[in-house]
Amino acid sequence: MAAQLLDGKKIAAQIRAEIREEVAQFVGRHDVVPCLAAVLVGDDPASGVYVRNKQRDCRQVGIESRLEHLPADTSAPQLCSVVASMNGDPSVHGILVQLPLPAQIAPASVLDVLDPRKDVDAFHPENMGRIAEGRPRFLPCTPHGIQQLLHRCDIPVAGRHVVIVGRSQIVGKPLALMLLARDSTCGPQVANATVTVCHSRTPQLAMMTRQADILVAAVGRAGLITAEMVRPGATVVDVGINRTDAGLVGDVDFEAVRQVAGYLTPVPGGVGPLTRAMLLYNTLTAARAQVAEKIR
Ligand code: NAD
Repeated sequence: MAAQLLDGKKIAAQIRAEIREEVAQFVGRHDVVPCLAAVLVGDDPASGVYVRNKQRDCRQVGIESRLEHLPADTSAPQLCSVVASMNGDPSVHGILVQLPLPAQIAPASVLDVLDPRKDVDAFHPENMGRIAEGRPRFLPCTPHGIQQLLHRCDIPVAGRHVVIVGRSQIVGKPLALMLLARDSTCGPQVANATVTVCHSRTPQLAMMTRQADILVAAVGRAGLITAEMVRPGATVVDVGINRTDAGLVGDVDFEAVRQVAGYLTPVPGGVGPLTRAMLLYNTLTAARAQVAEKIR
């Protein structure tokens, strides 16, 4: 039987509706509108689309969004000074520096100056460290979106073997830490996994992936995960986004893996919409924390 597809679009719409309600309550209670400020450097078309989508998402749920669009030849100190002024602006609750940055700016040099309390992408080392310690302030949007997806599709994680392919700072590594933790924002059932992380230097990748109850592919290589690499009935989460002649595809050979897996996320319409929804969640979380800090 073909795998059941996990509809990320539908779940993201549910989450956005919940957030919209919570934003309205927050505004009513505190007379403060949560605000996300994005910084876009240069004219990369894909980055421009991502930022515009995020702004539209904000408007839909009642979050204010601002955009600082800087020229491609912006220097690291110039960008840091823009971020510093957003850090000091009490009407800005979340700051997002759209990646990738032009070659002359090392992302770490900018992310390090971002106020960790406004770091709604959760890329700052302090926030990453807090996740590793099991006391997160924010969760990175893609791993958190995956947790929400599994939770809302009633796919338990606790006690199961999760194999993650990809060890990036924004997906693979934090997801591994979050699924290893004792608890999650959705309760202990979506944590407490046994986690294996594979990467470009992992020998015998197929042998590893075939052991997965839940397989997460976060690599950026179309067709990397074939049907032979998937245990029958496994849940397969495809994070990859690859632009090919055939259009947008993930890392999973969709048609073939669909015949083997129990559950599968499509690309597009799987993890992507959840990533966007969790950014709104983090912006509201940031606004709540900053308002509570002022009241104290
Ligand atoms: P990255 O480029 O930072 O890291 C890729 C990882 O894949 C590395 O850890 C590398 O070791 C591993 N890798 C490379 N080749 C491999 C191979 N042959 N076998 C096993 N592992 C291999 O990636 P990233 O930023 O985590 O992004 C990964 C993919 O996910 C990209 O396609 C990206 O566009 C996509 N992405 C999607 C979302 C979403 O919301 N859907 C969010 C973030 C990233």
